[in-house]
Amino acid sequence: MAAANRPPPAYTAPPKFGDPRDITAAEPSARTPKESFTIRPCSGQAWLVPAGHICRLTTPKGPQVGDLNIWNANNPRERMWAARTRQIHASHVSVGDRLWSNLPYLRPLVTITGDSLGGGQLHDVLGEDGKRKPEAVFGTTQFGGRVHDLLGTRCDPYVNLLMGGETFDFHCHSNLTRAVAPYGLTELDVHDVLNVFQVTGLDEQGKYFMETSPAKAEEYFEFFAEVDVLCALSACPGGDLSNWGWDDKAGGMGATCRPFGSGGVSVGRESLGRMGGTSEPRIQGAARNEHATARAGRAGRHMIM
Ligand SMILES: [Zn+2]
Repeated sequence: MAAANRPPPAYTAPPKFGDPRDITAAEPSARTPKESFTIRPCSGQAWLVPAGHICRLTTPKGPQVGDLNIWNANNPRERMWAARTRQIHASHVSVGDRLWSNLPYLRPLVTITGDSLGGGQLHDVLGEDGKRKPEAVFGTTQFGGRVHDLLGTRCDPYVNLLMGGETFDFHCHSNLTRAVAPYGLTELDVHDVLNVFQVTGLDEQGKYFMETSPAKAEEYFEFFAEVDVLCALSACPGGDLSNWGWDDKAGGMGATCRPFGSGGVSVGRESLGRMGGTSEPRIQGAARNEHATARAGRAGRHMIM
């Protein structure tokens, strides 16, 4: 019997959104740092990044995993779509990948321009062909884990109770909810996350696992805002995940919790005029179709009595 061929990836990143290497702001020398702040352990923070600016997340004191949410700042119904981003790029993302928005928008909200665990800055990581240099990747751990995870989602108080833990008010879901409240958003707006600095994978049974964060002090992960975005990051109460569990009665997990940013999450801003020209919002006209309205009558409403 002939050997079966491995199916190819079902998706490839669409070229219409341009070459990430065109983002001139990815050159560190072209930047003017403007603002920075610290996210305390076990807390969250939200902040705005205007289109055309770079935002850098750092781990000033060593390993700590974070749960990141991103919205279109001008329309929070448009937000990061972890599942489609997984398909277009990979289960774990790094330099050159984009974080895509949900339907009916489906466009890059941000482009990842730097990742110290994934080889560094965009122009060092991507080769002449636009692909990542083989030596400039995080790779996989002995268990198959990779870093910067789109497989899982945020920890939350509901699943904590479901799994036998006790009431706790500082899970990432709660931290993110508090963080976005000043922007008029609620827990219903909090969505599936990008777990930054977090190593995860699926085992032989397809079960989700997590490993200790490999981030050292001053590790960074940064992205270029393709549109005005609202970001929120939670410093996970799981800390560096070396002592992770559904309950923390002994306090071992809490002892591994660290802040983000050393001066925090730093937002490096410079004038839009110096950017690489990818900052214009690019609505996909072709995505506007009549699927919902034209066929709504056919579907009707039903109730099983
Ligand atoms: Zn968490």
